[in-house]
Amino acid sequence: FLSIQSVKKSFGNVAVVKDFNLDVGAGEFVSFLGPSGCGKTTMLRIVAGFEEPSAGKVLIGGKDVTGLKPNQRNIGMVFQAYALFPNLTVAQNIGFGLKVAGMPKAEAQARIDEMLAIIKLPDFGDRYPYQLSGGQQQRIALARALAPKPKLLLLDEPLSALDAKVRISLREEIRSIQKKLGITTIFVTHDQEEALSMSDRIVVMNEGRADQTGTPFEIYNRPSTKFVANFVGTLN
Ligand code: ATP
Repeated sequence: FLSIQSVKKSFGNVAVVKDFNLDVGAGEFVSFLGPSGCGKTTMLRIVAGFEEPSAGKVLIGGKDVTGLKPNQRNIGMVFQAYALFPNLTVAQNIGFGLKVAGMPKAEAQARIDEMLAIIKLPDFGDRYPYQLSGGQQQRIALARALAPKPKLLLLDEPLSALDAKVRISLREEIRSIQKKLGITTIFVTHDQEEALSMSDRIVVMNEGRADQTGTPFEIYNRPSTKFVANFVGTLN
């Protein structure tokens, strides 16, 4: 469903992504795992359309989207830090993309209610972001990303600002919502446990390259490089 073909990206003369290739099937949950600075966020931003690749192309649903703006790609995104609009209620936050798309009010309200039910915060529509915990805010951010029914969900370290307990329960919740909706998802993380517990497949990135791509079982039990073995912990 998503195809990343020979993508390279340099900033000035620094090569941050070096020949990245990946095909992601419809409904698959794939993690980009790697240490800080390995290029995983840059690769995600290229898929989203916030950065243009220096070379190569990105196809979504068989369509070449290289050069298209983020809002022309039919994607939803959630970032690390709480990026909710602080002056809007939860319902207005979730409905933001629907309003922009010109959805009639009644239909938008029904969709907002449906999203609040999916994230299990049915009575939270009238609250403001500052009245919510970090975990609740990230669930609202997820609902906002999913409300316009995107074809592709991009998650950039959505759990890393949360405390350990919330992080673990949200892992399961995100995965179960993702499965229920069947939405193709890319999840960026530096946390190997997170990637191992959530993903259908993991791409382990090292200095701008995909060192190994495989199922959590393959990555954990048959690391193909020393870097992968070290990073997923099997050499510790
Ligand atoms: P982190 O988890 O720390 O964000 P990452 O693996 O996601 O790490 P990237 O954010 O993709 O890594 O960054 C990879 C490298 O590219 C870093 O060295 C970063 O400084 C550099 N970089 C990213 N964006 C830019 C930019 N707009 N201009 C110049 N350099 C950049």
